[in-house]
Amino acid sequence: MHNIAVIGAGMAGCTLARRLVDAGRRVHVFDKGRAAGGRMATRVAGRLRFDHGAQFMSVRGDAMRARLPEWQRAGVLARWPQAAVDGDERWVAVPGMNALAPRMLWGAEFSAQTLIDALGADRFGWWLAEESGMLPDCFDAVLVTVPAPQAAALFARSTGADLHSFVEAMQRIRYAPCWTLMLALSERLDAADCLRFPAGGVLNWAARDSGKPQRDGSRECWVVHADPQWSQQHLECEPEQIEALLTAAFAEALGQAVEPVQRCAHRWRYARVLEPLGQPCLWDADARLGYASDGCLGERIEDAFDSANALADRVLAAEAGLARPMHLAAEQHVHLR
Ligand SMILES: Cc1cc2nc3c(=O)[nH]c(=O)nc-3n(C[C@H](O)[C@H](O)[C@H](O)COP(=O)(O)OP(=O)(O)OC[C@H]3O[C@@H](n4cnc5c(N)ncnc54)[C@H](O)[C@@H]3O)c2cc1C
Repeated sequence: MHNIAVIGAGMAGCTLARRLVDAGRRVHVFDKGRAAGGRMATRVAGRLRFDHGAQFMSVRGDAMRARLPEWQRAGVLARWPQAAVDGDERWVAVPGMNALAPRMLWGAEFSAQTLIDALGADRFGWWLAEESGMLPDCFDAVLVTVPAPQAAALFARSTGADLHSFVEAMQRIRYAPCWTLMLALSERLDAADCLRFPAGGVLNWAARDSGKPQRDGSRECWVVHADPQWSQQHLECEPEQIEALLTAAFAEALGQAVEPVQRCAHRWRYARVLEPLGQPCLWDADARLGYASDGCLGERIEDAFDSANALADRVLAAEAGLARPMHLAAEQHVHLR
C-alpha cells in the first residue's frame, strides 16, 4: 500500500498526509478549495485577513501536545493569551489559521481546486474522478476526510466496493451551521478581544481578529459568529441580509456604534459537529478505504487530528496482510472498526 489518496486537506487530511509521508508512503491530497486548511480558514480581502472558520485550537491530549513545540519552532503556531479560559491555553496558527496546513503537507503531493465527485475500485486499485472526468492516477488506498454529508454523497456515488456501511455511518453524524461576519472598522472598538455570548440569542462569539498574534494590528478587524440555532433558522438568507442583521446584533451587544468600512458574511453549512459518530475512524482493510474527520469524535480541531491519527495507525498496521490484489464488490466484506 504505497500510493495513497487523501480526499480533503483540513486538519484530518493534513494529519494523515504527515503520518503517512513520514512512514515512507507516497501521498496525494486532493481538496476542492483554493488552498489547504479546510475549516481552519483565512479569508484575504486586499490587505485584510480574517480567520472566518476555526478561531483557535485547544489542546487536551498528549498526541497533539507533542506536536506543539515543532509547530512553534517552525513559526506556524503561537499562543493566543487573550482567548485563554481559566488558565487553559488557546493556540492559533500564524500568520493565519490556514498556515498550519501547508506545513503539514510537506512531502505530499497536493492538488487544490479538485472536487472529487466519484471514486471506484477495479483490478488496478482505486480511481478518483472530478465532474470533468477521471484523474490519471490510481491508488492502493483512499482515505476520505470531508464532512460526513459530503462524504455520504461521495460514497453513494462509488463503484466497485460495497460502501453501504460507510454511507450509513455518515448519516449518523450531525453538524450545526454557522453564519460568520467579517468586519473591518476604521475605529478601535471599546471591547475585550474575545466575547462569548449566551446560547439562544443571535450571536455566539466575536473576536478581534487583528489582535491575534502576528496579525496586522494597524487595522481593526473582527470576526463574529452567529448562534448555531439562529444560523439554522437563517440558513438560506442572502449574505447581504445576514451582514446587516449580524452587524446590528453586534452593535447592540456592545452598546456602541459599529460602522464597518468593509464587511462580508460567510455561511458554513457544516461548521461544528453536534453528534459525532463515537468511534475514532472507519477503516475497511479489504476495500482499503478509510474515513476520518472531526465528525468521528467531536467538534474541535483536535478531534479531527485524533481521528486521523487513529486511521493512520490502522492503515499502517494493515500493511502486512495487503499483498493480494483488491476484489470486486461481490467478494468484499466491510468491517468498520
Ligand atoms: C465557524 C467555525 C468555528 C470553529 N471554531 C473552532 C474553534 O475555535 N476551535 C476548534 O477546535 N474547532 C473549531 N471549529 C471546528 C474545526 O474547524 C473543525 O473541527 C476542524 O477544522 C475539522 O477538520 P476536518 O479535517 O475534519 O474537516 P475540514 O476542515 O472541513 O476539511 C475537509 C476538507 O475537505 C474538502 N472537501 C470537501 N468535499 C470535497 C470533495 N468532494 N473533494 C475534495 N475536497 C473536498 C473541503 O474543502 C475541506 O478543505 C470551527 C469551525 C467553524 C466552521
